[in-house]
Parts: sequence; structure tokens; C-alpha cells
Amino acid sequence: MIYADHAATTKISTAARDTMLQTMDQFWGNPSSLHTLGQKAQEVLQASRSTVARLIGANMKEIYFTSGGSEADNQAIYSAAFLGAKKGKRHIISTTIEHHAVLHSLEALKRQGYDITLVPVDESGIVKVDDVVAAIREDTALVTVMFANNEIGTIQPIGEIGALCRARGILFHTDAVQAAGHLHIDVKDMNIDLLSLSGHKFHGPRGVGALYARSGIPLTSLIEGGAQERGKRAGTEDLPAIAGMATALEEACRDLEKNTDYVRNLRDTLIAGLSRISHSALNGDSTRRLPGNVNFCFEGIEGEALLLLLNAKGIAASSGSACTSGSLDPSHVLLAIGRPHEVAHGSLRLSLSEHNTPEEVETMISAVAETVTYLRNMSPVWSALLKGEKNYVIQ
Ligand SMILES: *Cc1c(COP(=O)(O)O)cnc(C)c1O
Repeated sequence: MIYADHAATTKISTAARDTMLQTMDQFWGNPSSLHTLGQKAQEVLQASRSTVARLIGANMKEIYFTSGGSEADNQAIYSAAFLGAKKGKRHIISTTIEHHAVLHSLEALKRQGYDITLVPVDESGIVKVDDVVAAIREDTALVTVMFANNEIGTIQPIGEIGALCRARGILFHTDAVQAAGHLHIDVKDMNIDLLSLSGHKFHGPRGVGALYARSGIPLTSLIEGGAQERGKRAGTEDLPAIAGMATALEEACRDLEKNTDYVRNLRDTLIAGLSRISHSALNGDSTRRLPGNVNFCFEGIEGEALLLLLNAKGIAASSGSACTSGSLDPSHVLLAIGRPHEVAHGSLRLSLSEHNTPEEVETMISAVAETVTYLRNMSPVWSALLKGEKNYVIQ
């Protein structure tokens, strides 16, 4: 099987798995217990916190472990919203291409009386800083813009948005789930107040993530109970997962430049190969995108059919984000960059990592080209296009 769905999840690294097993075997005490076994576990917990903090330029007291990226996004957004409401500020700015963990949190706040502005992105999938500035009001409490998009991989101008929010005293959150371990992050340099990351997107374990909250920003608990995570996230810590995530992030950041060079090369070869298919188009900016992200639209076919046939050929891909697959709605991200519905349905995401090889990329190029031709030969839409009864959207 060729695995090209790293934006959905990644295989755990050997080092991260070893850390998890060692933690389970040796540090299985409850970090809240006062005996030696508990205190040993507490040490592992704090060492993991310090590692994660260091790798994003934070202090360890600013890191809260969560059950993953979704929980971190929810907690960041609710916390900022409640802080704003205390000062009579109930306006939040975000973008049209956020992950559902952000968009659905914002919808829930809207039902509670908050006012939400979703700033559009341009056709390259990048938000314009001026549009964010234009959306700011007296009562804006929070700006939340993702670091890099999970579907089309586009990298947003986070440092610039951070600086402008800081200058105006507005809280700034970024969903950095796709960026952590893949792009350089420094929360201080980038003026980030709140940041979410998730273990399983950088070869760490599933079900664990972290929320960075700049010191002085009080979080709201989503889960009440014990005093874990400085009273902001109750529940006995999943220490093997937390320690495994710290190891994976350490490894990913250590190898970041090497992996970026290697994966970006594979990506650009794949993009060049798929661009040779007629009436195909790359989704998202060709350079300001994650090193491993490739996302195309092919006119006249259904992405789901392409995905299933590629699976039968031993290639694991995605038709968009895993969260929307199974639904008939086209991706909100592809619609946001201006793809019409019928073209947005014919999309394919291949997300690579350092585990992929140049040979796999060549296999993917020929498999996608063959499958697209096969599907087009059966497609009534394609035959209408060929006969000139319909106009091509992608030239
Ligand atoms: C995967 C992902 C999430 C959700 O993270 P989980 O740990 O799976 O809850 C949130 N945002 C983005 C951009 C993602 O890619």
C-alpha cells in the first residue's frame, strides 16, 4: 500500500512508540500521586511539557495537554470568547477555510449571540492581511486563522496577523495542527496568543494534543473535575500519549529542514506529473503550501470514484478532508477558493511525508492519469464537454 493521506493521520514513529511503551511499563503511576511512582510520572509529564514548549518557543507553564487538536481549538475559542464577553466584546474574526473544529465552535458561539465574520481567501487559498484588518471592529475579541490548511495545504500569513492583533490588543489564535512538526513555529516572534496542535499529524499518537495559551490568558475549562493541567483540563493524564507526542515533535523539529527539502521535492514532482493531465488544476498556491500537500481538481469526474479506484490499486488518498468524506457536500475549502460545485466534486488530495519515495510518486502519477482517463471515458459530463455541449471550467 502506498500511503498518501498524511494530512488525515500519520503512522507513529518508532521513537514515539518506544517512548509510549517505556512510559506504560515504567511510569504508570498517577502523576497526581505523592508517592515515588506518582512523582516519577509527574517528572515525565513536566519533561514532556517542557519539550513541547521549547519546540514552539513557549514557556512550559503556557502548555496544556488536551485530547487532540479539536479539543484545543474548542478550548482556545471558548476561552477567548468568554474573556471578550466580560468586556462586552462579542465579535470574532476567522476565515472561510478553517477546519470544522474551528468553524463549528464558532457556529455554536453564534447561537449564543456572538457575531462571527468569516474573511474570504483569494483563489490561491490565502487570506489577505488587509481583509483581516478591514474586518476588525471595536468589539472584536478574537481573530482565529489556521496556520496551514488541511485540505489544500496553503500557509497563512500568521506572523503578520499576529503582529496586527497584538498592536490592537485583540487575542489571536491559530490552529497549527497541520503546521506543527512541519513548519517553523515561534509563538513569541509570531505574536500568537493561543495555538492548537495534535500528536497524530506529526507521527505521534492519536487522541492527544496541546493548547498553548500565552501566560496571563485565563482558560475556560471544558471538562470539570480534578486539578490536572493547572485546573484547566480535568482528568488523569494520558501520560504514554503525552510523552509519545513530545518525542514525535522533538524528532519532527530536529529533522524539519531535511524532511522539508525531501518531501517538497516529491510534492513538486507529483504536481508536475499531475499537471500534465488535461483539464486538471492544482488547488491552492503552488509555493506557499505545506511541503507534503498536493490537491487537484480533474474536470468531468467524481473524486469519490477516483479515490476508490486508487484504493483498489493500492494507493491511500483522500477526496478532501476525512471529516467531510461520506457527505455529498463539496469541500467548503474548494468552494472558498472559487471552484464551482461540479469541479469541486472532482478533487483529490495526496498528502506526502518523508516515508514516501520517488518511486511511489511515479506510481501515483501514472495511476492517477490512467484512472482519470478511465473515469472520463464513462462520464456523461466528459462526453458533453468533448462534444462542445458544455464548456470546460478548467482550461
Ligand atoms: C486533524 C486536524 C484537526 C483535529 O485534530 P484531532 O487531533 O484529530 O482532533 C484540527 N485542525 C486541523 C487543521 C487538522 O488538520
